[in-house]
Amino acid sequence: MLQENYESIDKKITEACKRAGRNRDAVTLIAVSKTKPLSDIEELLQNTDAENFGENKVQELVDKYEHISRPVKWHMIGHLQTNKVKYIVDKVCLIHSVDSVNLAKTIEKEAAKHNVVVPVLIEVNVAGEESKFGVSVEETEDLIRQIKDFPHIHIDGLMTIAPFVANPEENRVHFRRLKELLLDINSKNIDNVHMNVLSMGMTNDYEVAVEEGATMVRVGTGIFGERNYNI
Ligand SMILES: *Cc1c(COP(=O)(O)O)cnc(C)c1O
Repeated sequence: MLQENYESIDKKITEACKRAGRNRDAVTLIAVSKTKPLSDIEELLQNTDAENFGENKVQELVDKYEHISRPVKWHMIGHLQTNKVKYIVDKVCLIHSVDSVNLAKTIEKEAAKHNVVVPVLIEVNVAGEESKFGVSVEETEDLIRQIKDFPHIHIDGLMTIAPFVANPEENRVHFRRLKELLLDINSKNIDNVHMNVLSMGMTNDYEVAVEEGATMVRVGTGIFGERNYNI
């Protein structure tokens, strides 16, 4: 079941790449395993080539990290509180959700203690939704300029959580905007700034996101089924 879901999404990504004239290797599928048991992750590991997993809670990520049968790539995709950075800074391959200098400073400090360079994405609230974390499109370059010289952080790119919409086509404009923003900032040739990751697209809209240039899609429900937050 999980295997079929994963493979079907993988195939749809391949098809979206073809439509857009992109190489399939340019897109990483992150299986968003938040709220799901470790056994689901193990099932995917056994039956598919899945190796990237996304979590949005520090405690849950650490628990799974400690108990999984073999190492995988963990992505921190949720809002991150500064006091919890220390628990994950040496465990994740990418933090998708940097949206303040303060958070970046904390990551820098903790990464220095572990002598690692932590790859991060800047979370951009591209649709300007009030309920969402992330910096505005207008604030993005300024935030990048403030953290670009931190020696233990590398800004790999940008991430967005698009609005929940009935028709995924409605989000095309936001994905396009995020890509334009990345290209625009890259074109300024700012020292230490060359971004090539666009983390955008979830279960409802990942195909549109891939057509618009996503290099990482974060898919939870489409692989693992509906989440139950009451248990
Ligand atoms: C939960 C979550 C996802 C996955 O959402 P689905 O709609 O279940 O695919 C992706 N990105 C972030 C940041 C999330 O919190």
